[in-house]
Amino acid sequence: MNHEDGDYVLPGEILCSYEEYSPSNWTYVEKGYIKANKQGKLVIDDYNKTVSIDSRDAPRHIQINDLIIGYVTEVRTQKVLVTIKQIVGQKRDLVAGYKGYIHISQAIGDYVQSMHYLFKIGDIVEAKVINVFTTEYIELSTASRKLGVIKAMCTNCRSFMELDQNNELRCECGKKDYRKLSENYGGYIE
Ligand SMILES: [Zn+2]
Repeated sequence: MNHEDGDYVLPGEILCSYEEYSPSNWTYVEKGYIKANKQGKLVIDDYNKTVSIDSRDAPRHIQINDLIIGYVTEVRTQKVLVTIKQIVGQKRDLVAGYKGYIHISQAIGDYVQSMHYLFKIGDIVEAKVINVFTTEYIELSTASRKLGVIKAMCTNCRSFMELDQNNELRCECGKKDYRKLSENYGGYIE
């Protein structure tokens, strides 16, 4: 057994070998291991030798069409990597480990030469989930006016930038810059 009773587990996690226990609610067998099919609290029943997942108070799993808030961890020419923090409308932060990406074709819904022009490391984005391959490989889109950067991190001084009266991004340090902005820029202030 890799876990203790009551541990919080994520979908796909190995719980124990199939010889030790039998799978019960929200668990399945793969390659000789019992794995979690849902996120939630692990329930180990040593009397009946079963393992199951209690998902009653677990935060909901990310699904296609969810809106998420995340921060940009890496910007490449063709795609941007995002660590997902929250599903919009859910109070609790996600437990851990959700990662996504925005491909250049999903950034603005139009041709763009490089993602470096639209996003920078540290930016906070609101995006829509368009594919869930694994918890660490979730495809996101910002190709709508309501989606994109909601807080832009200044590349000069690492402060968050403000929109000026001309709707241009400007930092206290004097730096001006450009992003794929959301209409909600400045929203969801923590
Ligand atoms: Zn600055």
